[in-house]
Amino acid sequence: MVATADGARVDILSRDERATPGEGVDATIGGIVASARAALRDSGLPLHEIVAVGLAAPGPLDHRTGVVHFAPNIAGFTEVPLASRLSDALDGATVFLDRDTAIAAIAERITGAARGVDDFVYITVSTGLGGAIVSGGRMVRGTTNTAGELGHWPVAFQLDTARDAAFDVPRCGCGSYGCVESFAAGRNLADAYGVKETADVYAAADRGEPRAKAIVARAERAVAALAIGITNVLNPSLIVVGGSVAEKQRAHVIEPMRRAIRERAFATPASAVQVVPAALGGDVGMVGAVLAARERVSGKGEWFL
Ligand SMILES: [Zn+2]
Repeated sequence: MVATADGARVDILSRDERATPGEGVDATIGGIVASARAALRDSGLPLHEIVAVGLAAPGPLDHRTGVVHFAPNIAGFTEVPLASRLSDALDGATVFLDRDTAIAAIAERITGAARGVDDFVYITVSTGLGGAIVSGGRMVRGTTNTAGELGHWPVAFQLDTARDAAFDVPRCGCGSYGCVESFAAGRNLADAYGVKETADVYAAADRGEPRAKAIVARAERAVAALAIGITNVLNPSLIVVGGSVAEKQRAHVIEPMRRAIRERAFATPASAVQVVPAALGGDVGMVGAVLAARERVSGKGEWFL
């Protein structure tokens, strides 16, 4: 996408969307470059007039070095210097990389549901489950710049270490067990039920099919546990919940979080937090990447970085 940003306003000049190639690192980077060049062509702007390139990718990654440490859903994506590879392929353009969920949080903070809010947590529930933490007006980055991977917050534990853990709780794509993502992300729900589409699991549960109901109930308990942990540990004023599954299944995602906070979190932080749907839809990554790149290139984005 090629865009200009002024204040909270983003004007989209052109866009090019394509599926992620499944053949590994070089094909994926090649696809990104081809898409960027196609969007540029459509905008009529030459590359040398582009101030900065913003790029959202799944994490964990280091936004300062521009290295993706591990992207379990993209074949071969381990320790890839994505920002520099992309810069090389775009004639040395300045490229700013950040985690997709950090980018979404930046977009929601500047132009969405968290405008003006200094203590909030962003959660996305879609194919996967992820998040970002803004505390005291700063993005929480941690010591290796990988903080905020809320999808891998454990909400269950291996019940019997003498048995193969796979018998107790589902194995997560990160290699661990009991992560909230492995219970509540769209792909994991579909896998658990043996179907391709997450919507089919919810439809079956709504029809009263017992196995689907159990899988959905388990997902609700997982996001409820995450919401309680976030409320008690981080004391945010807002939990912004985005992503396609959350958008379509509010009663199964946002409502269980609200209920659990009300019933089980500490009273003081529970009374101060609201769980709200994200304001930005499917374009959140692209809009956020433009805003994040603008903030970083202008040196005004330190509160996020
Ligand atoms: Zn995990």
